Amino acid sequence: MFGPKSHLIIRSNHLFIEDVDSVLLAQQYGTPLYVTSEKRLRENIRAYHSAFPNADKYFAVKANGNLTILRIAAQEGMGADVFSAGELSVVRMVGIPRDKILFNGNSKSENDHAIALQAGVRMSVDSREELEHLARTAQALGLEAEILFRVNPDVSPKTHPKIATGLRSSKFGIPAEQVAETYERAMSLIGIKPVGLHCHIGSQILDTAPFAEAANKMMDIAGAVVEKGGEIKRIDLGGGLGIQYHPDSPAPEPADLAEAVLPIFQDRSRDLGITPQLILEPGRSIVADTTIMLAGVNEVKRAHVNFVATDAGFNVLARPMLYDSYHHVVAVNRADASAKETYTVVGPICETGDVLARDRHLPPLERGDVLAFLDAGAYGFSMASQYNGQPRPAEVLVYGDEAEVIRRREDSSALLAGQRILPKLMW
Ligand SMILES: *Cc1c(COP(=O)(O)O)cnc(C)c1O
Repeated sequence: MFGPKSHLIIRSNHLFIEDVDSVLLAQQYGTPLYVTSEKRLRENIRAYHSAFPNADKYFAVKANGNLTILRIAAQEGMGADVFSAGELSVVRMVGIPRDKILFNGNSKSENDHAIALQAGVRMSVDSREELEHLARTAQALGLEAEILFRVNPDVSPKTHPKIATGLRSSKFGIPAEQVAETYERAMSLIGIKPVGLHCHIGSQILDTAPFAEAANKMMDIAGAVVEKGGEIKRIDLGGGLGIQYHPDSPAPEPADLAEAVLPIFQDRSRDLGITPQLILEPGRSIVADTTIMLAGVNEVKRAHVNFVATDAGFNVLARPMLYDSYHHVVAVNRADASAKETYTVVGPICETGDVLARDRHLPPLERGDVLAFLDAGAYGFSMASQYNGQPRPAEVLVYGDEAEVIRRREDSSALLAGQRILPKLMW
């Protein structure tokens, strides 16, 4: 059922994560609860290191911004791809060196530019317009910005339209045909040092062909830059490798990605006479399968379909609602029982769209049972909200037979944080 996921096992009818019984986790810490396997996280990072021994790997922080998880990524030698000043401050806190951070974004403010300049981190510049703004800020501060250019390579990643980012029509990046000319402009600007190219074609990509296509386009552009006398020290091919959410849709491994892109990168670099540093920015494929989300069953209702209503909705796990995503569901306290019923799993939110899973074959369920949503480590907690007066859940890290809280559950005071009632309204 779990493919090669070494950290999830069924023992005596319960789902275990590493050597910890998830039924006990739900009892001890309450639900909804995010639970991450440290072992699986380290394995996933090491799979990238062995597939790409010479590349820098920058973890895409938007996939999971938990401090402990980021600290483990830092220990394992990952850098970070950040998309805001907030994400930048978090990765500095866990000890990721500035030389391994890329500050991305298609809508950076003057303040964002100043913060990145002062922190001394590289930036990915998303447009010709941004280049001019950044140069002015760098000059005013007397600092120099090392930059990559975010390229729109016009590649279809064959994924959900909301997570395709490298199409011509997407908001991200500089159109491929403008890049060399923009690079040349950057070379002439005081306060700007262009050092390479960046792209990111999308997310949850299950075929390596689009990555190869993007790599080829990036090398074409690198060639055009070199022709104009530009120096290409770094080529960042972004993230986007998919994972196996559904039992019937297998995903490529980092080694398959390496096989698809490394020959292109190496051969074409050699042809151009350049030796750029390769950078990758995996998010989902590092964290998704490390984590399960546990939800408690409140009601089981027989209506036009059988509904099972849990204490987690799209406030806790937004992906099914946002992208029609599939997360495999396991009844953790009946993990061996035969799946005799068909249920639609819904949450507690006052919206019809609050559906986490449709038409799932599960054992007969009742109030008090606990469901695990697998592969919830990427874009799970990081997208959680307090909608409908729901404090956000806790996060727990499991290692061997130990479990520890790595983010405590919010209480209802979190719903009030930062707010005030105006005094004039009090009498
Ligand atoms: C989201 C994002 C990533 C990570 O994508 P995954 O699909 O999670 O691997 C990498 N780079 C950039 C620029 C991104 O926006």
